[in-house]
Amino acid sequence: MIYSVKECFLTLQGEGVQSGSRAVFLRFAGCNLWSGREQDRATAQCNFCDTDFVGTDGEGGGKFKDAQAVAAHVEKLWGSGGQERLVVITGGEPMLQLDKELVDSLHARGFRVAVETNGTLPAVPDLDWVCVSPKSGTEVVQRQGNELKLVWPQEGIDPAELEEWNFDHFLVQPMDCVNRAEALKAAVGLAMDRPKWRLSLQAHKVIGLP
Ligand code: SF4
Repeated sequence: MIYSVKECFLTLQGEGVQSGSRAVFLRFAGCNLWSGREQDRATAQCNFCDTDFVGTDGEGGGKFKDAQAVAAHVEKLWGSGGQERLVVITGGEPMLQLDKELVDSLHARGFRVAVETNGTLPAVPDLDWVCVSPKSGTEVVQRQGNELKLVWPQEGIDPAELEEWNFDHFLVQPMDCVNRAEALKAAVGLAMDRPKWRLSLQAHKVIGLP
């Protein structure tokens, strides 16, 4: 299988429970909820995306001929140090391309494999960390995992319903949009009203990392 990778780089995880952890970010190209083109945003199923996932032209991106080639690329970016290796696979929607062969190849090189998905496709087996970020109006099939990350506010989502899903951590993150101050207030309000939820901020944006 050919894997299309938008970008791949070493950074610190900026969001969620693993925030602050050194990680290789592997961003797959493509998403099933938006084409990534601005002219399609208004009619997309997900229309608040802050990520460029189109093509393979980003830093460390490209077309990779097989799982071993992707895993070798990730390992090279990690550099020296054999312990606590972490790769965060995101997108776009990573489940469009991620398969067990790639998960196995990354495990063979000592990586813990984390994914960030919109949950509309089932997660592949043997992942070490599953973060689902639900989008309003979509059918989420992946209702279990380690971390549920709710970008807030989103009309049409009831946090009380999400609380029935099987996750270890429930995080609410203010939407990065023109009404940022309002979104932060809404996210803080949700965490104050419903103690199951914890506030998550995008630390990488504060410290100037990609
Ligand atoms: S599901 Fe995620 S990657 Fe896809 S358009 Fe929405 S925010 Fe962007």
